[in-house]
This record gives sequence, C-alpha cells and structure tokens, in this order.
Amino acid sequence: MHDAAFAACGIAARYEAWDVAPAGLAAAVARLRSDATVLGANVTVPHKQSVVGLVDVLGGEAAAIGAVNTLHMEEGRLVGTNTDAEGFLRSLTEAGLDPSGKVVVLIGAGGAARAVAWALLHAGADEVRVTNRTDSAARALVDDLRPAASFGRRPGRPERRSRLRAVERDDDQVSRGVDWWVNATSVGMARGDAVPDETPLPATAFSGRAGERAPAAAAIDLVYRPRRTRFLREAAEAGLVTVDGLGMLLYQGAAAFESWNGREAPIAAMRAALEGALAAEVRT
Ligand code: NAP
Repeated sequence: MHDAAFAACGIAARYEAWDVAPAGLAAAVARLRSDATVLGANVTVPHKQSVVGLVDVLGGEAAAIGAVNTLHMEEGRLVGTNTDAEGFLRSLTEAGLDPSGKVVVLIGAGGAARAVAWALLHAGADEVRVTNRTDSAARALVDDLRPAASFGRRPGRPERRSRLRAVERDDDQVSRGVDWWVNATSVGMARGDAVPDETPLPATAFSGRAGERAPAAAAIDLVYRPRRTRFLREAAEAGLVTVDGLGMLLYQGAAAFESWNGREAPIAAMRAALEGALAAEVRT
C-alpha cells in the first residue's frame, strides 16, 4: 500500500517491515530518530501502547486514546499520532454509516478498540458497550476513555453525554437494543496461511429478541485477512449490513502517509495495492 503510494507520487522512498521484540522497542525508536533519511513509521501490535512513553510529543487524539500507531519528525521532535480512529471513521463514511445516536457493542479492549471507542464517542454515538474476553481490560478502557464520552455534545443541541460502559460477554446487553456490533479483537484474523473459522460473538446475539433489533443494524469487523470473516458472514445471514476491515486499513494508512509527506494520499493506488495483496495472500 505504501510503496504503491510512493510510486504514484514519485517519492523515492520505500516502506520496510521491522520485526521488533518488546525489549528492542526503545532501540528501534532511537534508530528511527538518528536516521535523517527516515520519513516516519507505523507502530503495530504489541507496541502501540508502550511507544507512547518513547515519543517527544503526542499529536491529535493519541493522548486521549492512549495508543500510537504512527510516528513522524517535526522540528526535530518525534511526534506520535493515532490514525486508527480517523481510519475507522472514514471507512464508516465510505460505507454510508453514521455513528451519531447509535448503540454500539464494541468487542475487544486492546489498542484498536481504544481508538474505535474514541472515534464512536467523538462522532456522537449514544452508547458504547465494551465487552472483552478479559473483563478487567474492558473496565480499564472504560475508565480511561470516560472523558471522551462528553464528545457527544453538539453545539445548538441540548447538552448530553454519550454512555460508555463495560458489559460481560453473557450479559443480554450484548444483544438487546443494539444498532451496531464492532469486532476489534484479533479473533478471525488469519495467522500465516491458516484462516481460522472463529468469531468473538455467538450468532444468536444478532437476532436479539424479536423486534428489538434496529432495522439498519450493522456489523463492522476490523479484521481484514480474510475480508469475509465468520463474524461478518453470520451477521449477513442475520440480515445485517456488513463492513470489513479493509477500509479502515486503507484510511489509517492514508492518514499516516499524509503525516509523513505533507500531501494528500493517492487513495486509488493504495486501495488497488491492498486489494491485490490481500487477494493474493488469502482467498477472501
Ligand atoms: P491487541 O491490543 O493485542 O488486542 C487484542 C484484543 O483481542 C484484546 O481485546 C484481546 O482480548 C482480544 N483477543 C485476542 N485473542 C482472543 C481470543 N482468542 N478470544 C477472545 N478475544 C481475544 O490488538 P489490537 O491492536 O487492538 O488489534 C486487534 C485487531 O484489530 C487485530 O486483528 C488487528 O490486526 C486489527 N486491526 C485492524 C485495523 C485496520 O485498519 N483494519 C487497525 C488496527 C487493528 P484480551 O484482552 O482478553 O487478551
């Protein structure tokens, strides 16, 4: 995706993957800082939270989210930003979905879930119910993101706060009165050539109780390998609108490209490269 973007813009740069163990993160960041030819970097699992303490400045919503996925240099300082929230919102817009007023079940409590929670609250979701395999992580996300719940306020409208709370996986709040379900866990993501047929939520959750599900209910998966996960397949079978993880991947990458190069990202070239790579890697 990024090499295609550099080529489309005539930028003589290449994107490299560095396999960095947790103990080597500080050295990898020091290497980025000391190399004047480096435009910037992305940071991914498991470093998105630990890199927060290694940058000079947190830009945009990174501090509120508590996770960084993009680095760039600005006036000699290393800036950490989070483009996952923007990528998620842009992918929803592209799919014709608006979080405003929605009741959302967010499955997962890792770095990506934090960015999604922030994005949903920022865009005026009515309620975000966070559920996770490890309950304590869901509660920690809710505690940390609580200040973001006041984003639901809009000028000229009566003041209100969005609701943000943790719910256990067997709680009926995971299925009752829900507009959207978002999978922000790694469940369903291919590992190498192995494509797991796993879902983080039993399909019965989508049916709710008769008449309780919103007519425009949707399921959104952050997983992009494969694009058609069991979570999305079962949601489609239950009549929901579905959105896969490719759009978010594309738009978080586009926002990162823009922070490194100070120019608009070539979306069409990036999308074509992503779709080609994913189709070649895993049958979708
Ligand atoms: P992370 O910080 O490692 O969090 C992983 C999450 O998945 C945690 O909530 C974890 O629960 C849960 N989980 C892992 N294995 C599980 C299992 N077997 N059963 C139930 N829950 C399980 O990772 P992340 O950065 O948040 O990323 C999560 C996923 O989103 C990854 O697949 C990543 O590739 C994807 N993602 C996609 C995009 C995109 O652009 N489309 C962007 C960012 C991330 P516990 O707390 O219980 O461990």
